[in-house]
Amino acid sequence: MKKNILILNCGSSSVKYELMDMDNSGIVASGFIERVGMEDAVIHHHYRCGDGYSDIKTSKSIPRHREAIEFIMNLLMDDEIGVIEDIKDIYGIGHRVVHGGEKHIESAYITGEVKQDIKDCIDLAPLHNPHNLTGIEACEKLIPDHHQVAVFDTAFHQTIPRHTYIYALPYEAYSKYGIRKYGFHGTSHQYVASRAAEMLGKPLEKLKIISCHLGNGASACAVKEGKSIDTSMGFTPLSGLVMGTRCGDIDPAVLLYLMNKEAFSAHEMSVIINRHSGLFGISGVSRDFREILEQAKEGHDRSQLAIDIFAYRIKKYIGSYAAAMNGLDVLVFTAGIGENSVELRDMVCSEMEYLGIDLDRKRNEKYTGTEGIISAADSKVTVMTLPTDEEFMIARETLRIIGELKNV
Ligand code: AMP
Repeated sequence: MKKNILILNCGSSSVKYELMDMDNSGIVASGFIERVGMEDAVIHHHYRCGDGYSDIKTSKSIPRHREAIEFIMNLLMDDEIGVIEDIKDIYGIGHRVVHGGEKHIESAYITGEVKQDIKDCIDLAPLHNPHNLTGIEACEKLIPDHHQVAVFDTAFHQTIPRHTYIYALPYEAYSKYGIRKYGFHGTSHQYVASRAAEMLGKPLEKLKIISCHLGNGASACAVKEGKSIDTSMGFTPLSGLVMGTRCGDIDPAVLLYLMNKEAFSAHEMSVIINRHSGLFGISGVSRDFREILEQAKEGHDRSQLAIDIFAYRIKKYIGSYAAAMNGLDVLVFTAGIGENSVELRDMVCSEMEYLGIDLDRKRNEKYTGTEGIISAADSKVTVMTLPTDEEFMIARETLRIIGELKNV
């Protein structure tokens, strides 16, 4: 039987998908549907065709996630451009689910109970969990006999110790409302940590790794002996590093002060810290790092300031996580900015000799968007760039969970 895994990531008005052939880790087809719920939803489909790949873009009315997933299935099995012959050629479906709360410390086979758990976490991830669940239920209706697995963004961080995840608030905030650090981007941090160990030919269990996922959303993670022991995102994906439009760490009293001064409602304040802050808020130009870099090169002062604050925050987290792990073996840069920005990696790694970080400038310039070691040969800490692959991780987890189920 073919080991094709369909990976689904359902957002409020979008569905991203990838069909991966796990026998040779190859992408068979991938794409995304935007504007789900509209008359003019847009579908971008990329599919294997002969020895290469082809793309199509089309638009049609897609009222709900269910119709979106149905359309994807039909594309995959299409007479002309299809990549599989039968729905049975899909071995299992892996869903990206943002929040699994404290209960889900690893990926889970989807049952009625697991769906209820996802529902119970809606309060903690109102922008994501409802849509993740809609995708699961749509698949249940469309292909009820297929195995489905939930891969949680929070699960990898469930190994963070109690003294790290509890906030210094009255303890009831945790016991009554579950307010604690959960962390996100877990699938990405887990992937890059294990891939880094694989590339270095060293056991993950023997390494102290800091993974910096630097994209529109950004977080750092301390991975000791293969386990997440701290991460910069917290109760929500707002804390920690500076992001495209999110503020990251700030003094919480600033919110109270601004709400008082400007008579902002809680909602207005939330919009400011989530959508009007970060690189965009500081630069006043863009949330896109490339544009900010260009502006800074042309002398735009606030763009340079945004870059300086962004890099400084990352540097501080690296220092604190090296302290938390009592050392550092590997520093990994991933996601859009981390994989591609030579300038940013250079800024973060400069004046870090005390930690044993010695960046090789030529190697740093050589590796953009690809896997590579960018530290000097004798650097105590190995610095790497490593494109993240959350879809592969979800597919691998889906295969593992289905495999375990079949062995029982
Ligand atoms: P992601 O969320 O992982 O897709 O990352 C998006 C971010 O990566 C945006 O801020 C982009 O400007 C940034 N990015 C992508 N390519 C580059 C590049 N070549 N140099 C600098 N930043 C980049």
